[in-house]
Amino acid sequence: MRLDWSPLRAELSKWRRKNMTLPVWWRDDDAIEVTPHLERLVTRSEAVGVPIHLAIIPRDASKELADFIKETDHIVPVVHGWSHTDHQPDADTNCEFGEARSRDIRREEAGEGLRRLQRMIGDDVCPMFVPPWNRVGSDMLVDLPALGYRYLSTCNPRDIEEPAAGLQVINTHIDPIYWRPSRHMSHPELVIEKMTNLLKKRRQGKSDNAEPFGLLTHHLAHSPKIWEFCRQYWMELLDGPVEIFDARRATN
Ligand SMILES: [Zn+2]
Repeated sequence: MRLDWSPLRAELSKWRRKNMTLPVWWRDDDAIEVTPHLERLVTRSEAVGVPIHLAIIPRDASKELADFIKETDHIVPVVHGWSHTDHQPDADTNCEFGEARSRDIRREEAGEGLRRLQRMIGDDVCPMFVPPWNRVGSDMLVDLPALGYRYLSTCNPRDIEEPAAGLQVINTHIDPIYWRPSRHMSHPELVIEKMTNLLKKRRQGKSDNAEPFGLLTHHLAHSPKIWEFCRQYWMELLDGPVEIFDARRATN
Protein backbone atom coordinates (compact mmCIF):
# COMPACT_ATOMS: atom_id res chain seq x y z
CA MET A 1 0.00 0.00 0.00
CA ARG A 2 1.68 3.20 -1.22
CA LEU A 3 0.71 6.21 0.87
CA ASP A 4 1.75 9.81 0.66
CA TRP A 5 3.19 10.68 4.06
CA SER A 6 4.86 13.88 2.84
CA PRO A 7 2.49 16.26 4.72
CA LEU A 8 3.35 14.57 8.01
CA ARG A 9 7.06 14.44 7.19
CA ALA A 10 7.06 18.17 6.46
CA GLU A 11 5.30 18.87 9.76
CA LEU A 12 7.75 16.73 11.71
CA SER A 13 10.67 18.64 10.17
CA LYS A 14 9.17 21.82 11.57
CA TRP A 15 9.07 20.15 14.98
CA ARG A 16 12.74 19.28 14.63
CA ARG A 17 13.63 22.85 13.74
CA LYS A 18 11.77 24.12 16.81
CA ASN A 19 13.37 21.46 19.03
CA MET A 20 9.95 20.20 20.02
CA THR A 21 9.16 16.65 21.11
CA LEU A 22 5.89 14.83 20.57
CA PRO A 23 4.87 12.32 23.22
CA VAL A 24 3.18 9.32 21.55
CA TRP A 25 1.28 6.29 22.78
CA TRP A 26 -0.79 3.33 21.59
CA ARG A 27 -4.13 2.07 22.91
CA ASP A 28 -5.96 -0.97 21.57
CA ASP A 29 -9.50 -1.88 22.69
CA ASP A 30 -11.88 -4.79 23.28
CA ALA A 31 -9.63 -7.64 24.40
CA ILE A 32 -11.25 -10.59 26.17
CA GLU A 33 -9.21 -13.54 24.99
CA VAL A 34 -6.03 -14.56 23.24
CA THR A 35 -6.59 -14.65 19.49
CA PRO A 36 -4.27 -14.71 16.46
CA HIS A 37 -5.08 -11.01 16.01
CA LEU A 38 -3.94 -10.25 19.55
CA GLU A 39 -0.74 -12.19 19.04
CA ARG A 40 -0.14 -10.28 15.84
CA LEU A 41 -0.72 -7.00 17.68
CA VAL A 42 1.90 -7.89 20.26
CA THR A 43 4.37 -8.89 17.55
CA ARG A 44 3.82 -5.51 15.89
CA SER A 45 4.22 -3.72 19.20
CA GLU A 46 7.52 -5.47 19.86
CA ALA A 47 8.72 -4.76 16.32
CA VAL A 48 8.16 -1.01 16.61
CA GLY A 49 9.09 -0.77 20.28
CA VAL A 50 5.85 0.87 21.41
CA PRO A 51 3.90 -0.81 24.24
CA ILE A 52 0.21 -1.52 23.78
CA HIS A 53 -2.14 -0.14 26.41
CA LEU A 54 -4.64 -2.95 26.01
CA ALA A 55 -8.20 -2.09 27.06
CA ILE A 56 -9.67 -5.31 28.45
CA ILE A 57 -13.37 -5.93 29.04
CA PRO A 58 -13.18 -7.05 32.68
CA ARG A 59 -16.36 -9.12 33.00
CA ASP A 60 -15.46 -11.35 30.06
CA ALA A 61 -11.66 -11.51 30.29
CA SER A 62 -10.38 -15.08 30.19
CA LYS A 63 -7.78 -16.62 32.46
CA GLU A 64 -5.77 -17.46 29.37
CA LEU A 65 -5.66 -13.75 28.48
CA ALA A 66 -4.52 -12.89 32.00
CA ASP A 67 -1.72 -15.47 31.79
CA PHE A 68 -0.70 -14.23 28.35
CA ILE A 69 -0.47 -10.65 29.61
CA LYS A 70 1.62 -11.66 32.60
CA GLU A 71 4.18 -13.17 30.23
CA THR A 72 4.23 -10.26 27.78
CA ASP A 73 6.23 -7.20 28.63
CA HIS A 74 4.77 -5.13 25.79
CA ILE A 75 1.20 -5.07 27.09
CA VAL A 76 0.00 -2.53 29.64
CA PRO A 77 -3.41 -3.81 30.76
CA VAL A 78 -6.07 -1.11 31.28
CA VAL A 79 -9.76 -1.29 32.18
CA HIS A 80 -12.38 -1.15 29.41
CA GLY A 81 -15.53 -0.39 31.42
CA TRP A 82 -17.20 -3.49 32.80
CA SER A 83 -19.12 -5.58 30.23
CA HIS A 84 -19.18 -3.33 27.15
CA THR A 85 -22.97 -3.15 27.30
CA ASP A 86 -24.90 -0.24 25.87
CA HIS A 87 -27.37 1.10 28.44
CA GLN A 88 -28.50 4.23 26.64
CA PRO A 89 -32.12 4.44 25.47
CA ASP A 90 -30.99 6.51 22.49
CA ALA A 91 -30.08 4.09 19.71
CA ASP A 92 -27.55 6.44 18.13
CA THR A 93 -25.30 6.94 21.11
CA ASN A 94 -23.87 3.78 22.59
CA CYS A 95 -22.63 4.20 26.14
CA GLU A 96 -22.08 1.92 29.11
CA PHE A 97 -21.43 4.61 31.72
CA GLY A 98 -23.91 7.28 30.68
CA GLU A 99 -26.38 9.08 32.90
CA ALA A 100 -29.23 6.78 31.87
CA ARG A 101 -28.24 4.58 34.83
CA SER A 102 -27.77 5.52 38.45
CA ARG A 103 -24.36 6.76 39.49
CA ASP A 104 -24.21 4.09 42.22
CA ILE A 105 -24.52 1.22 39.77
CA ARG A 106 -21.95 2.73 37.44
CA ARG A 107 -19.55 3.35 40.32
CA GLU A 108 -19.92 -0.24 41.44
CA GLU A 109 -19.20 -1.60 37.96
CA ALA A 110 -16.23 0.70 37.36
CA GLY A 111 -14.76 -0.36 40.71
CA GLU A 112 -15.36 -4.05 40.05
CA GLY A 113 -13.74 -3.74 36.62
CA LEU A 114 -10.44 -2.65 38.16
CA ARG A 115 -10.66 -5.14 41.01
CA ARG A 116 -11.40 -8.12 38.74
CA LEU A 117 -8.45 -7.39 36.47
CA GLN A 118 -6.19 -6.90 39.49
CA ARG A 119 -7.30 -10.27 40.86
CA MET A 120 -6.56 -11.93 37.53
CA ILE A 121 -3.40 -10.11 36.45
CA GLY A 122 -2.03 -8.58 39.64
CA ASP A 123 -0.36 -5.25 40.28
CA ASP A 124 0.63 -4.74 36.65
CA VAL A 125 -2.87 -3.50 35.84
CA CYS A 126 -2.66 0.19 35.04
CA PRO A 127 -5.44 2.15 36.80
CA MET A 128 -6.69 3.70 33.56
CA PHE A 129 -10.43 3.80 32.91
CA VAL A 130 -11.33 3.46 29.22
CA PRO A 131 -15.12 3.76 28.94
CA PRO A 132 -16.56 1.76 26.03
CA TRP A 133 -17.40 3.93 23.01
CA ASN A 134 -15.17 6.60 24.60
CA ARG A 135 -18.08 8.05 26.54
CA VAL A 136 -18.67 8.50 30.26
CA GLY A 137 -21.17 10.60 32.19
CA SER A 138 -19.37 13.62 33.60
CA ASP A 139 -21.22 13.17 36.90
CA MET A 140 -19.09 10.13 37.81
CA LEU A 141 -15.62 11.53 37.06
CA VAL A 142 -15.09 12.47 40.69
CA ASP A 143 -15.77 8.84 41.65
CA LEU A 144 -12.95 7.41 39.54
CA PRO A 145 -9.98 8.49 41.72
CA ALA A 146 -11.80 7.21 44.81
CA LEU A 147 -12.11 3.83 43.08
CA GLY A 148 -8.36 3.74 42.47
CA TYR A 149 -8.16 5.12 38.94
CA ARG A 150 -5.40 7.58 38.05
CA TYR A 151 -6.14 8.00 34.33
CA LEU A 152 -9.17 8.44 32.10
CA SER A 153 -8.86 7.79 28.38
CA THR A 154 -11.45 8.60 25.72
CA CYS A 155 -10.81 10.18 22.30
CA ASN A 156 -9.98 13.56 20.76
CA PRO A 157 -7.69 16.23 22.27
CA ARG A 158 -8.44 16.70 25.93
CA ASP A 159 -10.20 19.88 27.04
CA ILE A 160 -8.80 19.62 30.52
CA GLU A 161 -5.88 17.69 31.95
CA GLU A 162 -7.36 16.86 35.34
CA PRO A 163 -11.19 16.86 35.39
CA ALA A 164 -11.18 15.57 38.98
CA ALA A 165 -8.40 15.71 41.57
CA GLY A 166 -5.99 12.85 40.97
CA LEU A 167 -7.45 11.88 37.58
CA GLN A 168 -5.38 12.65 34.48
CA VAL A 169 -6.88 12.53 30.99
CA ILE A 170 -4.82 10.83 28.28
CA ASN A 171 -6.92 10.51 25.15
CA THR A 172 -6.42 8.97 21.74
CA HIS A 173 -6.41 11.09 18.60
CA ILE A 174 -6.21 8.87 15.54
CA ASP A 175 -8.51 5.93 14.77
CA PRO A 176 -7.88 4.46 11.31
CA ILE A 177 -11.24 2.66 11.26
CA TYR A 178 -14.34 4.21 9.73
CA TRP A 179 -17.00 2.54 11.89
CA ARG A 180 -20.28 3.32 10.23
CA PRO A 181 -21.93 1.89 8.23
CA SER A 182 -19.30 -0.84 8.25
CA ARG A 183 -15.88 -1.24 9.79
CA HIS A 184 -13.29 -0.49 7.18
CA MET A 185 -10.15 1.54 6.75
CA SER A 186 -10.78 5.29 6.56
CA HIS A 187 -9.28 6.98 3.53
CA PRO A 188 -5.59 6.93 4.55
CA GLU A 189 -4.80 10.35 3.07
CA LEU A 190 -7.52 11.86 5.25
CA VAL A 191 -6.07 10.19 8.33
CA ILE A 192 -2.62 11.54 7.47
CA GLU A 193 -4.12 15.00 6.95
CA LYS A 194 -5.84 14.80 10.35
CA MET A 195 -2.57 13.78 12.04
CA THR A 196 -0.74 16.63 10.37
CA ASN A 197 -3.36 19.18 11.41
CA LEU A 198 -3.39 17.98 15.01
CA LEU A 199 0.39 18.17 15.19
CA LYS A 200 0.40 21.63 13.63
CA LYS A 201 -1.99 22.88 16.32
CA ARG A 202 0.32 21.52 18.99
CA ARG A 203 3.36 23.10 17.36
CA GLN A 204 1.57 26.44 17.21
CA GLY A 205 0.61 26.20 20.87
CA LYS A 206 -3.10 25.97 20.08
CA SER A 207 -3.48 22.58 21.73
CA ASP A 208 -1.89 20.78 24.63
CA ASN A 209 1.36 19.05 23.69
CA ALA A 210 1.76 17.57 27.16
CA GLU A 211 -0.97 15.06 26.32
CA PRO A 212 0.51 11.93 24.70
CA PHE A 213 -0.67 11.70 21.08
CA GLY A 214 -2.57 8.44 20.85
CA LEU A 215 -3.25 5.87 18.17
CA LEU A 216 -6.44 3.92 18.87
CA THR A 217 -6.73 0.49 17.29
CA HIS A 218 -9.12 -2.47 17.58
CA HIS A 219 -7.11 -5.59 16.78
CA LEU A 220 -10.21 -7.78 16.27
CA ALA A 221 -11.48 -5.49 13.50
CA HIS A 222 -8.23 -5.16 11.55
CA SER A 223 -8.15 -5.91 7.85
CA PRO A 224 -4.78 -6.32 6.09
CA LYS A 225 -5.04 -2.68 5.01
CA ILE A 226 -5.43 -1.50 8.59
CA TRP A 227 -2.48 -3.58 9.79
CA GLU A 228 -0.40 -2.10 7.02
CA PHE A 229 -1.52 1.44 7.83
CA CYS A 230 -0.54 0.93 11.48
CA ARG A 231 2.87 -0.37 10.46
CA GLN A 232 3.49 2.70 8.33
CA TYR A 233 2.01 5.01 11.00
CA TRP A 234 4.64 3.96 13.52
CA MET A 235 7.46 3.87 11.00
CA GLU A 236 6.73 7.47 10.01
CA LEU A 237 6.00 8.86 13.44
CA LEU A 238 8.97 7.22 15.16
CA ASP A 239 11.21 8.82 12.59
CA GLY A 240 10.23 12.17 14.07
CA PRO A 241 11.21 13.86 17.33
CA VAL A 242 9.02 11.72 19.57
CA GLU A 243 9.07 10.25 23.03
CA ILE A 244 7.16 7.01 23.72
CA PHE A 245 4.67 7.19 26.57
CA ASP A 246 4.25 4.18 28.84
CA ALA A 247 1.75 4.63 31.68
CA ARG A 248 3.73 2.16 33.81
CA ARG A 249 6.65 4.55 33.90
CA ALA A 250 4.73 7.81 34.05
CA THR A 251 4.64 9.80 37.24
CA ASN A 252 1.60 11.84 38.01
ZN1 LIG B 1 -14.70 -1.02 23.07
